[in-house]
Amino acid sequence: METKNVLMTIFGGTGDLARRKLYPSLFRLYQKGDLNDDFAVIGTARRPWSDETYHQVIKDSIASFEPSDKEAQDFASHFYYQSHNVKDTSHYDVLKELSDQLDEKYHIQGNRIFYLAMSPNFFGTIVSHLKSQGMMNTKGYHRVIIEKPFGNDYQSAFKLNEEINQVFAEDEIYRIDHYLGKEMIQNISAIRFANLIFESIWNNRYIDNIQISLAEEVGVEERAGYYDKSGALKDMVQNHILQMLSLLAMEPPVAFSEKGIRAEKIKALDSIRMYSEDEVRNNFVRGQYTEGEIDDQHFKGYRDEENVDENSLTETFVAGKFLIDNFRWSGVPFYIRTGKHLTEKGTRINIVFKQVPVNVFKNSITGPHKQNQLDSNVLTIYIQPTEGFSLIMNGKEIGQGFQTEPVKLEHRNSADIIENTPEAYEKLLLDVLNGDGTNFTHWDEVAQSWRIVDRIRQTWDKDQQTPPGYPAGTMGPKEAYQLLEKDGRHWIWEP
Ligand code: NAD
Repeated sequence: METKNVLMTIFGGTGDLARRKLYPSLFRLYQKGDLNDDFAVIGTARRPWSDETYHQVIKDSIASFEPSDKEAQDFASHFYYQSHNVKDTSHYDVLKELSDQLDEKYHIQGNRIFYLAMSPNFFGTIVSHLKSQGMMNTKGYHRVIIEKPFGNDYQSAFKLNEEINQVFAEDEIYRIDHYLGKEMIQNISAIRFANLIFESIWNNRYIDNIQISLAEEVGVEERAGYYDKSGALKDMVQNHILQMLSLLAMEPPVAFSEKGIRAEKIKALDSIRMYSEDEVRNNFVRGQYTEGEIDDQHFKGYRDEENVDENSLTETFVAGKFLIDNFRWSGVPFYIRTGKHLTEKGTRINIVFKQVPVNVFKNSITGPHKQNQLDSNVLTIYIQPTEGFSLIMNGKEIGQGFQTEPVKLEHRNSADIIENTPEAYEKLLLDVLNGDGTNFTHWDEVAQSWRIVDRIRQTWDKDQQTPPGYPAGTMGPKEAYQLLEKDGRHWIWEP
């Protein structure tokens, strides 16, 4: 464990992310003693707030934990507000002065974390000023936390990375993908590598296909302006889905360490087949929600949303098939789908195993449900909103005659346990304090994910077609079902 004496400067300190996620997470770390009394936070943004106003914002953002007045006050007293326009060089001088004062007051020994919780357009400007204005002339560690999106294609990500690399080394950069802070994502590795029964059959001899679904019930909400330029492919597939895929597909790391895992994830991403344009058209489908109902509530179509172009070609849904060209996975499709205004919120992974070589029960099965094929064994990993896993096996149905029936073995973490586990941001912040980059994305992963996604995007941009519609409240357009049907398969999760 490293020393927790640290000065954290949050750029975008008045923003939504800071209030909803960062302040509550810091409070939990403070309560648990992961942050001791020698820490200070500077919040910066354009608004001219006083420290008092800022303290009230901090207290409001942790109110749901019901701290005592003293506890809330003690915590808030570590926060300092500095109005700041990130484009104004002289403002960094003021920030430096405050930083140096706090450094001394809290015995911080020069340890600095910079959290860039603002629009990515500003990342380059901020980091170059941190260096030029001497904010990193201290002897402690320097780390920068960067929010998504990291670029909006390979070119822009590369340029951004170059800018950041002028100031921070790769091991000082913590690129957030908050999915990697989720308990169950980290558990993928536990299920695989701590259970002989799975890791020994985790390959193309036993696995028929893998399905990753990341469904949102909400529509674009107030993010329409951003979303209309981005779409589901860049918003979800480039980061969360490819991260999940690489954790599922990677080879066992030599050790469960940052370096070991990263190296294997990068190799897995590098093995994903780069499609030609025609392969993209065959293997990826888009969708755009039209009006519909979810839980008796009516929702308008995407093109009728505020701040969305009425002729928008932006996809709010993607389904696709990735292939991984290596010994372990050759021939095993990884189907993925994600979208807005789907039937219900949920992220889950289904690992569908192959059929037994011969169904010896074929001729003994009688009764109304007679079927020649057994059900496949399916291992499901539930990521959210509930966490856990289940395994579907075949057993004999009780009674006369012979009939098999699928039986589900299930383990779901109770709501109680989930409530008490640290939130993704809390875990990730603690990782940064400890200097552990395992659950952050390395540049090589970002770069390869963009190369894969760019290929798909470029084909779609060239085709200029309207994505097929799907009514809000369904699991995507019919094309998403046909994608699997033409391979003789179907989506396991059908909410
Ligand atoms: P926001 O719009 O709520 O906040 C932006 C902040 O930047 C505000 O504090 C604003 O005052 C400040 N700002 C804007 N221009 C400035 C300037 N010129 N100088 C100084 N400050 C300026 O945005 P947000 O939702 O908090 O998101 C911040 C980042 O986090 C984005 O990169 C976003 O993609 C990412 N993110 C947010 C969430 C979320 O839940 N809100 C989730 C994942 C990722």
